[in-house]
Amino acid sequence: MDLARGLASLSEQDLGIVRADKRLDEIPEKHAVLELRKRIRDFEVVRSKAQAYVDEAQRLLGRDEDEIAGLDAKIDIEQRKIISGEITNPKEIQALSRELDALKRRKDKLENVTIDVMEKLETGVAQVAKIDAVIATAHEKEAALIAAFQEKGGALQHEIAAMKAKRTALAAALPPDVMERYEHARETKHGIAVGVLRGDMCSACRIQLPAERIQALEAGPDIGECPSCKRLLIVRMVEVSE
Ligand SMILES: [Zn+2]
Repeated sequence: MDLARGLASLSEQDLGIVRADKRLDEIPEKHAVLELRKRIRDFEVVRSKAQAYVDEAQRLLGRDEDEIAGLDAKIDIEQRKIISGEITNPKEIQALSRELDALKRRKDKLENVTIDVMEKLETGVAQVAKIDAVIATAHEKEAALIAAFQEKGGALQHEIAAMKAKRTALAAALPPDVMERYEHARETKHGIAVGVLRGDMCSACRIQLPAERIQALEAGPDIGECPSCKRLLIVRMVEVSE
């Protein structure tokens, strides 16, 4: 392909890709999905906090239950001593009773604490379940939005993929130095790297060029540089019918 024509085609292709990407980006479901995913991440943070609360309540409950079991064992031993009749000294019996009372009081206290922890645990578990339901609903909504996006944007995504493949082929057909100038101009000139000399005007910056500049360009290669905007300037190219 003619070099200048190849460059013009590449430029058209890139502009087409930018426009198609923009159209894809403007599909409302795309933003809705991104927005929703952000919210899901926030929900997950809340969920992990609620889960940590549940885990801690469970740990405390386990610890208290172990202690209560230990107290029960001790109470059992003391009670057995009292009813065995082996201890006859009233002072000793009194001391044992006092110890038994202290153990029972400790147990009561712990049981009250346990009830409290159990309530907290229940609240926490309910909270986690509630957040799970919210997250599940959000995922359902996300799937529906993705389906809607696919329906609206699927064809466009295909189109973009084909355009990108064509772009790669067009770029590969151009000499590396032209590609380097092209990519540099694309980066620095808001994506529009190429102008075409139309009459005495660069099609990209639309500045009328003085006659001597035009003459110099026309005396030079097919691909020059616009003296005004410094983009690649196609001075002449072979016209082809598409
Ligand atoms: Zn220009």
